[in-house]
Amino acid sequence: MSTLRLEIVTPERKVYEKDVNMVVVKGIAGELGIMPQHIPLVTPLKVAPVKAKIGNENEFIAVHGGFMEVRKDKVVILAEAAELGSDIDVSRARLAKERAERRLAQKQNDINAHRAELALQRAISRLESLGEKYHM
Ligand code: ATP
Repeated sequence: MSTLRLEIVTPERKVYEKDVNMVVVKGIAGELGIMPQHIPLVTPLKVAPVKAKIGNENEFIAVHGGFMEVRKDKVVILAEAAELGSDIDVSRARLAKERAERRLAQKQNDINAHRAELALQRAISRLESLGEKYHM
């Protein structure tokens, strides 16, 4: 099976670099499945887990927004923050989720409500990339 190179980079470090068979992301216009030889494209990403398919295995990386650039045999994702499942602190994510939900339940100004909404999305995405299921 042919492969493409997936790189996920944050301002701090390279989080992921592997040859994979398929990359599935949530772009702002919907879900995209990228296989080798995909046409080049650049798209902003939603805060959502990225799925890397390697043979019959799936790996999930929590990617918090950013951009994806697809080249012939390479996908580069640049994000403000991203974590592998093994790097995710579950209790921190659960606490962040509760904190954001509390803030959203209080009447806030738009800016704080927007910040709480984004924090909630990041926390849910971290938990989802570990297999916990949430509906927003
Ligand atoms: P918190 O409120 O817990 O700090 P946050 O969503 O505000 O969460 P970010 O601003 O997205 O945090 O990330 C700050 C840094 O902390 C990044 O390097 C990110 O990878 C890391 N990080 C945040 N939450 C977790 C977590 N639950 N497990 C592992 N790393 C995390």
